[in-house]
Amino acid sequence: MSKKLLHATGFGRVHQLILEEKPKEARELLKALQDEYLAIVEENEALKRQIIEVAQVLDMAECMEFDGQKYWLTDELRHKGPYCQLCYDRDGLLMRLGKQQRHWKCHCCGNVFLDAKAMQEQSAKRPYAVAMPRPPIPLFVK
Ligand SMILES: [Zn+2]
Repeated sequence: MSKKLLHATGFGRVHQLILEEKPKEARELLKALQDEYLAIVEENEALKRQIIEVAQVLDMAECMEFDGQKYWLTDELRHKGPYCQLCYDRDGLLMRLGKQQRHWKCHCCGNVFLDAKAMQEQSAKRPYAVAMPRPPIPLFVK
C-alpha cells in the first residue's frame, strides 16, 4: 500500500475496522497514519526553513555591491567586506577576503584580487622602482 493511498483512505478504513470489531487492525492502521502524519509535519518544517533561507538570500542579494572585482555588503549604516566574487557566484557563500599587502585573498578558494589602490600608492611613493622601458638599441650606427 502506498503512503498516499494510506493517507487518503486511512481514516475511513480505521472507522470501518472499529465497526467490524477489529481493534488490533484498527490500532495498527492508526499507528501507520500517525507515522505518516509525523513525516509530513517534518517535511513541512523543512520546507518552511527553505523558504526563509531563500528569502534571506534574496534580501542579501539586494544589498550586494560589486566593485568590478569583489563583492561588498552594504546597508545604510555600514560597508562590509569585501567578499570573494567566485565563492559567492558559484556557491552563494560570503567568504570574507583577507587583506594582504597588495592584494586580497580568499581563504576558501584561494582566489587573489589585486588591490588597485595599494598598487597605485606603491608606485606613487617609489616612481623609479618600476623599471622604465629602455630606448631601443639602434641596429645600424650611422
Ligand atoms: Zn573564494
